[in-house]
Amino acid sequence: MPGAATGGAVAYPGLDDWRKLPISQQPVWSDVSVYESSVKELSMLPPLVFAGEVDDLRDRLALAAQGKAFLLQGGDCAETFAGATADKISARVKTILQMAVVLTYGASMPVIKMGRMAGQFAKPRSSNDETRDGVTLPAFRGDIVNGFEFTPQSRAHDASRMLKAYHTSASTLNLIRAFTQGGFADLRLVHQWNRGFTQNPAHARYESLAKDIDRAIKFMASCGADFEALKRVEFFASHEALLLDYERALTRIDSRTGLPYDTSGHFLWIGERTRELDQAHIDFLSRVRNPIGVKLGPGTTGEDALRLIDKLDPDREPGRLTFITRMGARNIREKLPQLVRKVTDSGAQVLWVTDPMHGNTVTSPNGYKTRNFDDVIDEVRGFFEVHKSLGTFPGGLHVEMTGDDVAECLGGADPIDQEAFLEGYESVCDPRLNHKQSLEMAFLVAGALSN
Ligand code: PEP
Ligand code: MN
Repeated sequence: MPGAATGGAVAYPGLDDWRKLPISQQPVWSDVSVYESSVKELSMLPPLVFAGEVDDLRDRLALAAQGKAFLLQGGDCAETFAGATADKISARVKTILQMAVVLTYGASMPVIKMGRMAGQFAKPRSSNDETRDGVTLPAFRGDIVNGFEFTPQSRAHDASRMLKAYHTSASTLNLIRAFTQGGFADLRLVHQWNRGFTQNPAHARYESLAKDIDRAIKFMASCGADFEALKRVEFFASHEALLLDYERALTRIDSRTGLPYDTSGHFLWIGERTRELDQAHIDFLSRVRNPIGVKLGPGTTGEDALRLIDKLDPDREPGRLTFITRMGARNIREKLPQLVRKVTDSGAQVLWVTDPMHGNTVTSPNGYKTRNFDDVIDEVRGFFEVHKSLGTFPGGLHVEMTGDDVAECLGGADPIDQEAFLEGYESVCDPRLNHKQSLEMAFLVAGALSN
């Protein structure tokens, strides 16, 4: 039975209250003894992230909430075990660093770099089952629960996968830490990669921005900037805290403060489908010290937002709560203002981030789940327009992207069409911006930020 065992995790008042509440989107583990031994083992493994790092992130996010920093959060819709290779991880980190350089210049402020990485293995699904050619099997819920392959064995909910998710997250984080601390993040190197991008004729219109960044870097060098120090960047890990058995087992009591931290990632968010106020996800996340995000779709009312603030950020602590809006390009200009107004009028200060992906999913004529690059960009523009008109700060961007040359979203300056999906569609869940589309988005957003 899911959620039955406290399995070895250190007890702390309230941390297991979620087990008595309604909960959606959870697996039904096929073998209870495997479930019990897996959560027990997980609860004894070392933390993946450290409480001090989580506190640093909360401080950075507080700056973003005040309009003094910008959050860039990106990565796969669903990480896979097979996709955790050095090449793919480095390409994704590289792309996020490239985007961050452009955004830093455009915003003239620090950019907080965060991957949807090292833990993004659990997926909510609109249906419990999937039917193919008359055969019905449990839906794929992410590699942490079951396999993508369409066979009864693979689709069974196997709790030992939580251990594999932990170890895959650990090796992913290890590589990320090596890249971002070991010279790979050198500002001059990252900018050179971007010069390569803007020299492609399809992206020539971004050339002048790249030249401006060049001049800024030369200026810094002339002033004697310490480029050695700029070789290292902070990089944070985040994922949707969907699978509460896993999140609970990785929650530890910090020896400095005596408070619970979910050490599976620095930042955790609650999805659009699991943010019911009196249910398990909100209850559990309200009790850990990590900064928390909540996805808000077009049906969210101002009252919903205020109730979420009361529950998740009762002390109105700067950096604690991020609202990630995913309204859809068609809705954002109409739906976002009332939310922002209601929150601002209440005196609360949250960080507002746009996820321009999840409200813009469509099916291509040839049957693929996709998004139009133009819709994605239009939602970002709408997000900036609304905040500008209300005098509030558009504090970040949350995107599904990859560093690889895939074909999953339509359009872009070097356009992807639906025929390209036949060869280039790799996602096991939602469509991601590819490397070039991600960089193009960064240049477009940098333009909007500098206006
Ligand atoms: C996601 O981020 O992959 C996701 C499922 O988002 P949402 O909860 O906004 O639908
Ligand atoms: Mn997704």
